[in-house]
Amino acid sequence: MSNKYGKMREKLLRTRDMLVEDVRDIERRIADPADYVPFDDAEQGVVDAEKEMQFSLLSHKEAQLNRIDEALGRLARGKYGLCRLCSRRIRPRRLRAVPSAEYCVSCQHEYERETAPDNSPRGHAHFESYSTDGDAGCLAAARSIRRF
Ligand SMILES: [Zn+2]
Repeated sequence: MSNKYGKMREKLLRTRDMLVEDVRDIERRIADPADYVPFDDAEQGVVDAEKEMQFSLLSHKEAQLNRIDEALGRLARGKYGLCRLCSRRIRPRRLRAVPSAEYCVSCQHEYERETAPDNSPRGHAHFESYSTDGDAGCLAAARSIRRF
């Protein structure tokens, strides 16, 4: 394997480790929701909402993990950094920001236009718009859970 993307590989592996930890954490929290017994329906509602949030956090993390694994697979096959649609090289700047990027910027835009559920700009929100290590939304969610 060429060493061209050695740094990317390291970064992907580090992010992968973190995600695996996170997923384990969340699964533990879902399986064992602390010794907290809600004393009324309102509190039960909060507990349920919290659980729902854990599940959506979990699926978000798992999706990220899948993308990282795919990126690592592409690295191993020597396909890393090439757009899956047009096979053009993805710009290094984009790869640094989103190491698991699968498409070049223009294909990404095409893809988002086609897959956005209602063609509204908000439909783009979840597709690769997170950089793997600057996931602010997830962090905020994780923090609010810890406070609970
Ligand atoms: Zn492309």
